[in-house]
Amino acid sequence: MLEDFKDKVCRANLDLVRHGLVLFTWGNVSAIDRATGLVVIKPSGVSYDTMKPEDMVVVDLDGNVVEGSLRPSSDTPTHLVLYKAFPEIGGVVHTHSTFATAWAQAGRDIPSLGTTHADYFHDAIPCTRDMKKAEIFGEYEKETGNVIVERFKGMKPMDTPAVLVRNHGPFTWGTDADNAVHNAVVLEEVAKMAFVATTINKAFIGANRDPYRTDSAPSMNEHLIEKHYARKHGPDAYYGQKK
Ligand code: 13P
Repeated sequence: MLEDFKDKVCRANLDLVRHGLVLFTWGNVSAIDRATGLVVIKPSGVSYDTMKPEDMVVVDLDGNVVEGSLRPSSDTPTHLVLYKAFPEIGGVVHTHSTFATAWAQAGRDIPSLGTTHADYFHDAIPCTRDMKKAEIFGEYEKETGNVIVERFKGMKPMDTPAVLVRNHGPFTWGTDADNAVHNAVVLEEVAKMAFVATTINKAFIGANRDPYRTDSAPSMNEHLIEKHYARKHGPDAYYGQKK
C-alpha cells in the first residue's frame, strides 16, 4: 500500500540527517495521500541508520494504523491536526534543529530580517503560546497541533510554511514531504542568520535597546519583503525558469 509514498517519506526522513537537522531519532517527516486521506509517517524512535521504506507506518486521519508493524511517530497526532486544518499541505516535518529550536526555547518569533527569509516565508516565523496544564496532560501531541493552528488564525499556511512550537521546536510543511524538508532546511538557515544579525545589532546598539525591535513585526523594509516574496510566489513571479 502506498509504496511510492513510503519510499519518498523514508528518503525525506533520511534527508534530515543528510542536511544536519536531526541527531539520534529526533524529528519526523510525513506525507498525505489526499486521494485516500491516508498519511505515511516515520516509526517512533527508530534509528535513521537502519530505517527502511517498509518501516513507514500508514495511518488514517483519525490516527488508526492502517498498515505497518511499528508504532508511528509520537508526533503523529500533531501532523494529523495540521493535515486536517491546512488542506493545501501535502507534507509535514518536525526537527530539533539547533537555531530554530533555540528561537522556540526563547519563545520569540523569528523576525524577517533579510531576503533569504522573504524568499520563502512571507511573515515572521510565528512562535506558539505556552501550553496549558490541561493541554499538556491531556492529548498533548494533538493539542500541540491545535496551538499551531490557533497561531495561524488569519494567516495563510503556505505563505509562511513554518512555525516554532514554544519550548519545543520547529514544524514545517509543504506541498509534499520533499518540499517540507526543503522548508525545514531554509528555516534553520534563516534562524541562524537572524540570530547572528540580532547578536551583531545587540553588540552595536548596547544592552539597553531591544535588538529585535518587536517580537512579531518584520524588521526589514516591508517593500523588500513584498518584492522578494512576490518574485518567487506572486501571480507575476519571475524567479527561476519558465514552467
Ligand atoms: P519520534 O521518533 O516518535 O518521531 O519522536 C521524535 C521527536 O522529535 C519527538 O518530538
